[in-house]
Amino acid sequence: MKKRKIKKLPIILLILLIIIGITIFFLFNKDKNETIKTNKNIQTNEQEKDPLIQKIKTQKYYIEKNLDRYLSYLKNNPDLNPEKIIMDVNSNLDKTKYEDTEKTNIKDDNLMLVNKYYYLTEDYEPDDLVTLTSKYNSGVNSKMRKEAAEQVMEMSDAATLDNITIKNASGYRSYQYQVNLYDKYVERDGKKAADTYSARPGFSEHQTGLVSDINQIDNSFENTDAFKWLQNNAYKYGFILRFPKDKEDITGYQYEPWHYRYVGKKAAKQIHDENLTLEEYYAYYIQNKK
Ligand SMILES: [Zn+2]
Repeated sequence: MKKRKIKKLPIILLILLIIIGITIFFLFNKDKNETIKTNKNIQTNEQEKDPLIQKIKTQKYYIEKNLDRYLSYLKNNPDLNPEKIIMDVNSNLDKTKYEDTEKTNIKDDNLMLVNKYYYLTEDYEPDDLVTLTSKYNSGVNSKMRKEAAEQVMEMSDAATLDNITIKNASGYRSYQYQVNLYDKYVERDGKKAADTYSARPGFSEHQTGLVSDINQIDNSFENTDAFKWLQNNAYKYGFILRFPKDKEDITGYQYEPWHYRYVGKKAAKQIHDENLTLEEYYAYYIQNKK
């Protein structure tokens, strides 16, 4: 009897140890879970108390799923106001141009976004390109997508009634055309300079067939009556000035008074009325609503 009792002792000790072990494990995990919960609550409470974060959340173009990006952008740029933080992040300025890129969603049709973050593939060519006649065209790239071309013609006809001449100087440009153009600029001015005024192949809006460079492709166009007329009327035909003077950081391009992008009448009016770029409009009104 005595011998058997002694043999049982290590087994009982082992069972006891296991029970203690399991109990400690559960207690520890409960603590951990509660700590995580408390930390989350503190974080949420801190956000609710922080007036700057509250200001960000109440901005007109605030996008809920961008909140973490707004906050880390704010950390890196503490001097920017909430409105600027919202617009910069919505326009992807917290990402690296030509590196953090994704394919353009061509299903967005007239509203598709092509810039230094969104690109068209080498084989993308619109299937409804038409050629503008010399009445409406003065350059070598005379093709545009049908609806956009029709609106250029209507716009040009309306301008003629006001004694203003409006002609397309450069419309659709293929991927390969852009390869040659960009290479030429890089050779002349270097890659860094070329990137400020010319798009890399695939990243050019001209490949959409929705763009018209109008009359003269240089800054003096700004001083013409045609430019003034376009400022007041382009949106009525579904066109926007794509690279405005005061939004160069948002679009990633120097001011181009001659470059007009077709987006359709409804979007063009809203972009005009709210003084937005296509980047800002697309993030809030298109992508955010999907
Ligand atoms: Zn252009």
